[in-house]
Amino acid sequence: MEPPHSYLQQASAAVVHHQDYLNHRQDHALCGAMLEAPTVLDAEPPDVCPDCEVKLVEYHAVWWRETALAAVAELEELRVRYRELAGEDTAADTEAPRQEAPVPDLPEPVTFLDRARKELLELCRQFDGAVPYFRLKNTMQAFSDRLGTDERVILAEEIGADGSLIRWCATEAERLGWTVTNSPVQAENELMWDAWTHDAYQAPKKTKWRLGRSRD
Ligand SMILES: [Zn+2]
Repeated sequence: MEPPHSYLQQASAAVVHHQDYLNHRQDHALCGAMLEAPTVLDAEPPDVCPDCEVKLVEYHAVWWRETALAAVAELEELRVRYRELAGEDTAADTEAPRQEAPVPDLPEPVTFLDRARKELLELCRQFDGAVPYFRLKNTMQAFSDRLGTDERVILAEEIGADGSLIRWCATEAERLGWTVTNSPVQAENELMWDAWTHDAYQAPKKTKWRLGRSRD
């Protein structure tokens, strides 16, 4: 696909001009020369007016732009027809491009705490009112494991206080309306809680056994 050309020649003159593609004047050449009753040549002549050649760049730019815009318009029309064929509501089509635009800007869970809350909520919804503590702990532990070291630090900062994700989740679950069953929190013993959370990261309780046996 190329911009089409056509040529004008005045009967008496040897020089051949381009048509006035830009202003579409029948009695003018592209270079601006006035022509009297010119003959239109279809085939490209060996020599064309150099002033016309200079203006050709401008014509080509305009032509390509118009061609591109027409292609875009045609594509948009095809999209609309495609949606109609796909069974979508025609009324919704006109709204669709405007609705689609902001989607990438919509904030997905922004902070790690938001993501943790989302994860927690997804878990809680699987239970009717009461979430077993071990499920909460396992799920949030898995969530935490999927984070990088830096991300875990940020998450801990977002949690604040002592930065314990599991503890935050237990509180958050209660706040969202679920009861956490078999939670160390119910024992209302912070030390016991700490023992629980520490156990999650530490090796077997050899120390305890040794302490127990050290008496004999
Ligand atoms: Zn010319």
